[in-house]
Amino acid sequence: MTFSLKNKIKTVSLNRSGKVVFFLFLLSFSACGKDYVTGKTSYNWFSLDTDVKLGAQVLQAQQAGFARQNVPVDKDQEMTSRVRTIVGRITRVSHIPNLPYEAHVAEAPVVNAWAAPGGKIMVYEGLWDPQKGLVRKESDDEIAAVLSHEIAHCTARHVTKSLSQQMTFSLVGLAVSSAIAGAGSYQGANLFGEVFSQGMNIYIPSYSRKNESEADKIGLFYMARAGYDPRAAVEVWKRAYQRKGDQTSIYASHPSSGERAKALEKYLPQALEVYEQSKIMGPPVPARKGTL
Ligand SMILES: [Zn+2]
Repeated sequence: MTFSLKNKIKTVSLNRSGKVVFFLFLLSFSACGKDYVTGKTSYNWFSLDTDVKLGAQVLQAQQAGFARQNVPVDKDQEMTSRVRTIVGRITRVSHIPNLPYEAHVAEAPVVNAWAAPGGKIMVYEGLWDPQKGLVRKESDDEIAAVLSHEIAHCTARHVTKSLSQQMTFSLVGLAVSSAIAGAGSYQGANLFGEVFSQGMNIYIPSYSRKNESEADKIGLFYMARAGYDPRAAVEVWKRAYQRKGDQTSIYASHPSSGERAKALEKYLPQALEVYEQSKIMGPPVPARKGTL
């Protein structure tokens, strides 16, 4: 896969309004593509290349925020390496295994993790805090439960689908144009005002309930196919129901009424079969469109 959108702009060297027209032209081809997960026609004005570009900008803005506040990133080599191994195993069996995935661990007491569009992933150390955290630090299965849910948001392209629904045609053109033209600046990240709230320099994606339950289901099968025990997902979301946190926490961005764990339990027998199969299967195979 090549990500050549930026190069195309350079070679045509259009003025700003020309760029918008050019983007609208490009976008018209990507408005109703086949969904990578369901295989059905889906409504998304953004190309997958644009997801990658936008996610890279979110990550860049987040890293710049950490640099200003002297928050160390990837300093804990053992945890960074564990997180990257888990991300690698999950993404290899996902519906889009060839995105430029990249995972980081920030030394911040925030109980959260996110995957930006296009595969850029941030995990905050508070996620495994013994008192207020969501997962047990020693459990790869529990960490995989959270990461597979986040990666599912990414492969289901929930952010750009949601943007596509919220924006008018011309706004999408302008937004994408400024995001791409603004490489190296914060313009791209500002685009996410609609779906990302920036409080305390922490990006907090906000998804609809429908997107949340979809990511729960897709993520459950991703972790099972990657060889992580799917029962951990039920445990994690049961725990989330019992814990509370501030607005930067995963408890606020992923409200749990107890329904989540119940919904997951419904798919658990099937996910456990997949998990058992993963132990006897050969090398990991990416998920096929339309199947979990
Ligand atoms: Zn979520």
